[in-house]
Amino acid sequence: MRIKIRTTRQKLSSTFVSVLYLAATAQSAAGYAFNQIVPDVRQPVAMSGGSACPVRAHQLTAASSISLRWSTTLGTSPVSILTQTQTTTARLTEIEQVITQSLAVWTAVPGTTLVPATVAQPQRVVAQNACGSDGLNSICFDQADMAFTPGVLAFSRVITSDALGEQLGSSPAATQLGQILDADIYFDPIDAQVTFATPTALPTSPKAYDLQSVLTHELGHFLGFSHSAVWSAMMYPYAPAPGTFNGVRPSPQQLDASLGDDDRTGLRILYPNPTDTVNVGIITGRILPANSLSLPLSPPGVTGIFGAHVVAVDQSSGAVIAATIAGWSCASPGPAQFDGTYKLDHLPLNRAYTVYAEPLNGAVAPAQIIPAIATLCRNPTTDPGWPLLQGCVVPAANTSFTTRSR
Ligand SMILES: [Zn+2]
Repeated sequence: MRIKIRTTRQKLSSTFVSVLYLAATAQSAAGYAFNQIVPDVRQPVAMSGGSACPVRAHQLTAASSISLRWSTTLGTSPVSILTQTQTTTARLTEIEQVITQSLAVWTAVPGTTLVPATVAQPQRVVAQNACGSDGLNSICFDQADMAFTPGVLAFSRVITSDALGEQLGSSPAATQLGQILDADIYFDPIDAQVTFATPTALPTSPKAYDLQSVLTHELGHFLGFSHSAVWSAMMYPYAPAPGTFNGVRPSPQQLDASLGDDDRTGLRILYPNPTDTVNVGIITGRILPANSLSLPLSPPGVTGIFGAHVVAVDQSSGAVIAATIAGWSCASPGPAQFDGTYKLDHLPLNRAYTVYAEPLNGAVAPAQIIPAIATLCRNPTTDPGWPLLQGCVVPAANTSFTTRSR
């Protein structure tokens, strides 16, 4: 059994959010920035499916299939969580409300199978170090970790199955390829400069980071997202500045208000609802260089631009509806082909879109989406005994092209 570990960190807004790649992870067809995993085709076909095409990391969406617990041990020196109320009981209630509301943001998106009933009521645990590779999804506010280098605000560690039947600690055995077996969210408890405030405490805590924004972002990783290069997306890799929050606060009228359309489209791809008849538009194509001699010679077989940020904009509103990190496709039995393919899926129908491609050479760099792109291939070097015909090497993201898509 092999399990892939992926770590994502959210840093201070003045630096960039780095992504630590601990081991290979992987996923399917054309892009979007999801975390992906190549099934372990060295295992029997009954376990691996036999295809080396990447599959997306995701949670199961049966009733109460997502369990989550959180440690009530809060950092006291320094204080890491600021609340409006100060009694112990009221503090925990206030924090739990943030957890519940942050989850509700994601389960409120229409057109997905991720619904409020998918997530069980979060459970409290007293243990300080509740986070670990134990098959239990946990949020920890006072657990030190090697990943907390200076400037890291919070990070998520997600372990994904690459073969059916895999199990981790007390997780159920995987019934789907790419099933997330464990996802833990860590908040920095060490750095005295880093504090988090609940929405009610934030107005009087201008130097604190908004707990709800950071947690909602991390829950995106928990659900299988990598980062987005769309600045208005919740999955944009930079934390909002201290004292501010992402987007609009969720409200009873619009629980998913803090998400961007890019996040909503992404969630529909990760957890598609077969009865959705609205968000079923697809735009697909290839990003090719004007001069094919400009393609990299190594690794061999690259026939299109890889690593382009392809964006669909609603022509009437100017809003970004979806964006993907493009440049590959895959057909069973794999491996992924780096042919410049992009696919923008689950777009709302009856709208006109402008599609453009841009290199990742701005605020968001390829390093911030490593779990989404570095995990598209496995080969005999990364995995001894890997069948050569199903192996590949991920090319470097092309960040200097000027090509436009048609
Ligand atoms: Zn992140």
